Amino acid sequence: MTKDILVFIEQRDGTILPGALQALTAAKELAGKTGGKVAAAIVGSGVGPVADRVEKCGAAAIYIVDAEALAKYNAVTYARALADAITKADPQIVLLAASFMGRDVSPRVAIRTDAGLATDCTAFDIGDDGALNASRPIFNGKAFNHVRFSASKRQMASVRPNTFAMPDESGSGAERISVPFSADANDAKSVTKEINRTGGDEKDVTEASIVVTGGRSLKSEENFKIIYELAHALDGAVGASRAACDAGYQPHTRQVGLTGKTVTPQLYIACGVSGAIQHLAGMRGSRRIVAINTDPEAPIFSVADYGIVGDLFKVVPLLTDAVKKAKAG
Ligand SMILES: Cc1cc2nc3c(=O)[nH]c(=O)nc-3n(C[C@H](O)[C@H](O)[C@H](O)COP(=O)(O)OP(=O)(O)OC[C@H]3O[C@@H](n4cnc5c(N)ncnc54)[C@H](O)[C@@H]3O)c2cc1C
Repeated sequence: MTKDILVFIEQRDGTILPGALQALTAAKELAGKTGGKVAAAIVGSGVGPVADRVEKCGAAAIYIVDAEALAKYNAVTYARALADAITKADPQIVLLAASFMGRDVSPRVAIRTDAGLATDCTAFDIGDDGALNASRPIFNGKAFNHVRFSASKRQMASVRPNTFAMPDESGSGAERISVPFSADANDAKSVTKEINRTGGDEKDVTEASIVVTGGRSLKSEENFKIIYELAHALDGAVGASRAACDAGYQPHTRQVGLTGKTVTPQLYIACGVSGAIQHLAGMRGSRRIVAINTDPEAPIFSVADYGIVGDLFKVVPLLTDAVKKAKAG
């Protein structure tokens, strides 16, 4: 086993998941401590442009499994392809994004490569024995589970999106290593025939670095337009409270909270959201929280870095105008 750290670069149709590049940042920090180099693994079809960007992001070696059969994501084939790349690279540590794909593929890869696995981690360190230590929030962020890996085995961890910064893109000169992919009799057991995307071109709340969320106070789906306008001006995603989703103002795929999605963006703007404990469970890990609410006693202000006591129907359009003006220079 080398002292290298390999990052799985999750991509769909050539678009890299930001969380995968953020895992590269985590890998670079760890590589400074292990003395190894940062490698990347890409699985897919026609992934040359993906490799170009990963090279700029600072990977020293890129393991590429490129085959027509890998054009559509499939847990069985992707796990086998990634496991083959890991076997070839033989890294001490493997990181990947704690995304839906990461959740699906990581246990299969851990089994195949005889690695220990810690999921949804937000902090890492290297112990005195040279092995990975990882921290993962549990009980909705109220406590941390500290994981110490065994130095004698490969160490694998998924990284919660938006807990590490995006890498700068000034790198060059990565070594590219092609890893062959060949069909397996088991592949026929699970075949991806079609992928139907929901949500149109809108960003998913878990993948955006800025989330603008509306609550029940929006009163209708139509009124959510002002939330979308602010989110678009900021290049962010739209979230919603459960009350807003239950009322039919937004689909449940946008719900943030205990029974919705957990988000940790750089900036979370809560518009007319009371801040019930179940909502906070899904967003309290955000880097900066802004709350807009007419009620100065609303619980959301207890977790907010900046609070605006006011009517969202007046404040949100003003913010959108200010953002547009600032962007126009
Ligand atoms: C088991 C369980 C799981 C749950 N899971 C979730 C979950 O995942 N996510 C979630 O969000 N909730 C969840 N809930 C529901 C949660 O308890 C709250 O009911 C819900 O979050 C309230 O949504 P809200 O803040 O949009 O609405 P409200 O509680 O009705 O709050 C509306 C807020 O808007 C403010 N307001 C009103 N008008 C304006 C205006 N014009 N401008 C500015 N502010 C205004 C009000 O002062 C108020 O604070 C769960 C509940 C249970 C029991």
